[in-house]
Amino acid sequence: MKTEIIEILKNNGLKKTPKRLSVIEIMEESEKLLTPAEVWSSLKLKFNHVGLPTVYRILQELEQIHIIKQILTADNQMKYFYCHAHSGEHEHFICEICGGVECINSSKIRNMLQELENELNCVIDKNLFQIQGICKNCKKMNKKLSITEREINED
Ligand SMILES: [Zn+2]
Ligand SMILES: [Zn+2]
Repeated sequence: MKTEIIEILKNNGLKKTPKRLSVIEIMEESEKLLTPAEVWSSLKLKFNHVGLPTVYRILQELEQIHIIKQILTADNQMKYFYCHAHSGEHEHFICEICGGVECINSSKIRNMLQELENELNCVIDKNLFQIQGICKNCKKMNKKLSITEREINED
């Protein structure tokens, strides 16, 4: 585990409990979004006695300190992913095909949100700003697939 993560835990007064560290590991190793139940089933491989409420609590704690992030998927499922930037001040791009996540730090988005805040005289909850689509790799794969389909049809 990165010392950076250990520091974040320490600075937020969270102990390095084995379960907490395991959840971080599971999230870090996963290439896709995970539901609390999926995290739970991985965690159960290591710990005999761990309940789903514990998993929910750990996920919430880690979200508050920006180690992981939570999103609501298009089919209304609560899912979590590991945030590589570990800060609250950025957005995420989520691939609808592979579930991959990229941290986006765009000054254009920053400025736009700032402008909106001024215009509406409000505070925007930036966590709700979620960008979804098809990632670079899936776009490439899709292109390949459609070329293969064409080749088959032309035969
Ligand atoms: Zn991030
Ligand atoms: Zn993708």
